[in-house]
Amino acid sequence: MNFCGFSFDSETRGQVSRLAQSGRLPHAVIIESKSEEQAKNLAALLSAYAVCESEDKPCGVCRQCKNALSNAHPDIKKLEPDKKSKSGIYSIEQIRDLAVDAQVRPNDADAKVYIFEEADKRFPEVQQNAFLKLLEEPPQRIYFLLLVKSAKALLPTIRSRCTVIRTGGEEAISGEAVQSAKEIITGILSPREYELMLAMRALTDKTQQAGILLAVKNHLRDALVTLSGGDANSDKELARKLASKLTRKKIIEMIELTDSCDYKLRQNSNINLLTTWLCGEYRRILWQR
Ligand SMILES: [Zn+2]
Repeated sequence: MNFCGFSFDSETRGQVSRLAQSGRLPHAVIIESKSEEQAKNLAALLSAYAVCESEDKPCGVCRQCKNALSNAHPDIKKLEPDKKSKSGIYSIEQIRDLAVDAQVRPNDADAKVYIFEEADKRFPEVQQNAFLKLLEEPPQRIYFLLLVKSAKALLPTIRSRCTVIRTGGEEAISGEAVQSAKEIITGILSPREYELMLAMRALTDKTQQAGILLAVKNHLRDALVTLSGGDANSDKELARKLASKLTRKKIIEMIELTDSCDYKLRQNSNINLLTTWLCGEYRRILWQR
């Protein structure tokens, strides 16, 4: 998969590569990101993918890709909020016009892409319901990309018809954090509790905390992927070990636990109490029946 010079976190790269391997882009994608820039980059990449005329999409060099990546493609449209609206929302007329426009053949490529930036702010419920009709019966070769800070701001009926990709916003993971996360995972699987306690001490380094927890989650997600017969993104060996000792349910529980620890750290919880608690919880999940 060619990322056309954009840099994404390993999770995003994995998810996009899997979409590319499946050979087709879903007709509606929600891009969830705390970083607007990352969301826009991913939208540009997926748009290039949709219009690219090469076998190996997105090639980044064909005319379609070049136009897409320089925001100058006639078939890639950004829907701006209605100018008459003071609150910067889409009007119901715009959604109706969109439904008509979506039936018109593309100008240049053999696909059309509609990008909705800040969709969580611009889409009132009535407009979402109008849009839903389009999602339910999408015209051929039409793609919708909805950029949001949180997908929860969209109606469940919209979400259930879209593929959600989360990207960016997280800190880049340092090599040190990756190593510490491996030790934590090894510690979780070890029969000796002190190994896990020892590995957890890396979390006392404030500059590394977020990266370590993110890397731990990536390993756990890799184990899930391995369990469903897929290919792990990072450490295949470690993912296999996790998958051999944990059920799907336990892995999901551990991911949620790691998430809540991340949240508590941001609330400035006492780090020693937190690591002791986390250590106990990982082991409880591991051993429970
Ligand atoms: Zn191309």
